[in-house]
Amino acid sequence: MLGRKRRRMRHELAEIRRQHAEMINTWMREEQEPVPQPRPVEAVTPVVDDFPPADPRAPTRDDVKGMMMRRRMPLVLDGEVHACPQCGSYRDWIVFTLGDEVWLRCRAGHQALETRLDTAWFDRNSGPNETRHATFEEGLRHLGHPDN
Ligand SMILES: [Zn+2]
Repeated sequence: MLGRKRRRMRHELAEIRRQHAEMINTWMREEQEPVPQPRPVEAVTPVVDDFPPADPRAPTRDDVKGMMMRRRMPLVLDGEVHACPQCGSYRDWIVFTLGDEVWLRCRAGHQALETRLDTAWFDRNSGPNETRHATFEEGLRHLGHPDN
């Protein structure tokens, strides 16, 4: 019963989204027209609190312990190409966040906190991140830096 209801609601939601997309397309085609008036508040579909979204939500900083990305290009910090203090390598980094901190990990697995970078920088430089990993090691493997 519940499953059928959910499916129906999901279908309705998809339909609403489709209509919205159509509306937006129409607006884009009619750019020369005046800005469309927002719909009155009463017309907004009520939101059901426990309704699961049709598409999995991309993880945000609030619900993951950390985020990571691979950065193959050299990192320029304060006008200088940053090199690993331990082995001197200067490209192919794993950049990851832990809370508000940004860490760098070189190909050889040396890790260091990088205070000149912050999470805002990370967000600007990382693409949409929709892959989640149970462990840090799994993330490293996924990004091509297996921890061996
Ligand atoms: Zn290193």
